[in-house]
Amino acid sequence: MLAAGRPMLAIPGPSVIPDRVLNAMHRAAPDIYGPELEALTRQVVADLRAVAGTRHDVAIYIGNGHAGWEAALANLVARGDRLLVAATGRFGHGWAEIARRLGAEVEVIDFGLRAAIDPDRVAGRLAADRGQAIRAVLAVHADTSTSVRNDLAALRAALDAAGHPALLLADCIASLAADPFGMDACGVDVAVAASQKGLMTPPGLAFVWFGPKAAAARRRADPGPYWDWVPRASPGEFWQYWNGTAPTHLLWGLAEALAMILREEGLSAVLARHARIARAVWAAFEAWGQAPGGPVLNIADPALRSHAVTAVSLAAPQGTALRTWLTDRAGVTLGIGLGMAAPGDPDGHRHFRIGHMGHVNAHMILGTLGAVEAGMRAVGIPFAPGGLAAAAEVVAGA
Ligand SMILES: *Cc1c(COP(=O)(O)O)cnc(C)c1O
Repeated sequence: MLAAGRPMLAIPGPSVIPDRVLNAMHRAAPDIYGPELEALTRQVVADLRAVAGTRHDVAIYIGNGHAGWEAALANLVARGDRLLVAATGRFGHGWAEIARRLGAEVEVIDFGLRAAIDPDRVAGRLAADRGQAIRAVLAVHADTSTSVRNDLAALRAALDAAGHPALLLADCIASLAADPFGMDACGVDVAVAASQKGLMTPPGLAFVWFGPKAAAARRRADPGPYWDWVPRASPGEFWQYWNGTAPTHLLWGLAEALAMILREEGLSAVLARHARIARAVWAAFEAWGQAPGGPVLNIADPALRSHAVTAVSLAAPQGTALRTWLTDRAGVTLGIGLGMAAPGDPDGHRHFRIGHMGHVNAHMILGTLGAVEAGMRAVGIPFAPGGLAAAAEVVAGA
């Protein structure tokens, strides 16, 4: 009932795919030996550099974010290498697990589920590493499970202050084209992203950007033939032939999405839109949360919140009921809580997330928030009035 009509997928990836991106892929397969593919790859590579704010190389893989995680590490990590992971949620721990599986000695500094990375603590740990055995520091820019956003430039400054040569590796899978990021400005050595979040394209492409320090470090590792980023970042043979069949349709879709971001709306306008939409979401929950037992934003400090996703906690385990009601009765699907409770723990039902990265505008978010208010009423979640008015005020604001 009331769910028919265009659905709204408000999970933090895959995100809403613009019709234009879908249509760009709606084509017969091309001759992969013709010149079109090389020109397409050339454009996509230039645009991927621009969207990540870097002059450096980017390797494109046919895979999801996990493939990007593994690709970055496979090029840098030899068995027994020491890595330091600064974790602020499920995705930091997930990347650490991949590194362990690849044979690294992984140390995790866990900043919990409601705080950002404290760069001073990382600097302190690096300063104590007198032999400078730690090869890299791994951090997630926006951890999609907690919706915290980490300050990568501050982390870089901490590495430098400690006088430590470790590389800085950043997972920008959720944050790219949603939260401000400039790889070169932040001093990030390796950035990882994927196609299906801020880049508005179906899942299936992973990207690894790497700077000169990382390129030099690559010589110690043996990434194997598929993950090796050296040929993948090379024009000529590779951009024409892709070491196998190119992901032709995903590339067409991605090229369209990047044109929308970089040449039509413009990256700074895209980021400003994400900031405004995120503030509308926060304003709604801050008003609703004034009621005893009302919904609470997971990250208290607005300066530490991602613009891509918002994690919310309820006092009672009603999140799953709310999500089900919204999908069945309103055509809006929210994200599940992730990493906030152990698997199987009923406490997991207290959490949910709203994805607002990519192709999301004011009416989509106001519609989503309106449906959430109806759902909270239907399911019996306490909330104070005024959430929608507060969101509308943010949208209307100068
Ligand atoms: C989505 C996501 C991943 C995992 O990406 P997959 O494509 O699901 O493998 C990793 N890190 C972050 C921050 C993410 O948001």
